[in-house]
Amino acid sequence: MTHNEGLVIAHLGQGIAVEYNNQIILCQTLRRLDTVAVGDRVLWSRASEDQGRIEEILPRRSVLVRPSKSAKSRPVAANIDTIFVVFAVEPRCDFLLLDQYLAICENRNIDAALVLNKTDLPLSDMIEQELRVYEDLGYALYRVSAASGAGMAALKQALKGQVSLFAGQSGVGKSSLTNAILPDKLLKTNTVSATTKHGRHTTTAATLYHLPDGGDLIDSPGVAIFGLAELSDAQLAYGYREFQPLMDECQFNDCSHTHDKGCAILPAVENGTLSISRYQRFLKLKEKM
Ligand code: GDP
Ligand code: ZN
Repeated sequence: MTHNEGLVIAHLGQGIAVEYNNQIILCQTLRRLDTVAVGDRVLWSRASEDQGRIEEILPRRSVLVRPSKSAKSRPVAANIDTIFVVFAVEPRCDFLLLDQYLAICENRNIDAALVLNKTDLPLSDMIEQELRVYEDLGYALYRVSAASGAGMAALKQALKGQVSLFAGQSGVGKSSLTNAILPDKLLKTNTVSATTKHGRHTTTAATLYHLPDGGDLIDSPGVAIFGLAELSDAQLAYGYREFQPLMDECQFNDCSHTHDKGCAILPAVENGTLSISRYQRFLKLKEKM
């Protein structure tokens, strides 16, 4: 039996939508359906004209899991290259959430970039200062306005040639940005037409869309993909990239970077080499875990 390589673009009511040669194949799998993630590359075999069976999930470059209270957390999106963390003046910039997203990206082999939306609204000096900290750490920052279109060309350019996802708290403009980037037409041809045939997919599910200029965007409205639960103390520290060069100098391997003797991070915070606000958020997240 021949196996074709396809791309998982959505979970539908009756199976998994796999794209192959510009065609949508409704696939079943011998595994539990929820072990297959949007963005997965799979080998599938044909059962009929437009139906098939997923035989194998190909190795993932990255995977985001939805933490669950039951033992097994479920993969939501696979093979994401970059997460664009969206935030805005309104609702208030949540830098704690931003750090949380960045820490997960650092630990999951996913690049992270920042998107400041609603730049048509005035920005405080405090926020400007905080943004500079992230730029100094090497995170790309895109200043955009989905409303006015400002900065959108640069953002679109950044989305090219890779698989991306917008993350961020509700109200920052993720859907507005997605709509500006994805013309309606594509939304329809990509999955909606397939879903009418095979049953609608739930709005909370992730969907992969092809962008007009190349590249893919995984849209996952209402999905709380990010949990800290999955990060260990050491991984959280690893999530703060500015800690990396100093951590080797901590006297003890299991240094908690909080009050330990011989910690190399603490003095760097005290003398202003490291951002104190980032460090304070590190402590908060540590506590939250
Ligand atoms: P989401 O919850 O992150 O998907 O956010 P939405 O896209 O639903 O946007 C939330 C609100 O912000 C809506 O009322 C939008 O009209 C508004 N909004 C989105 N982008 C902009 C922008 O660039 N400037 C301004 N002023 N408002 C925006
Ligand atoms: Zn330390």
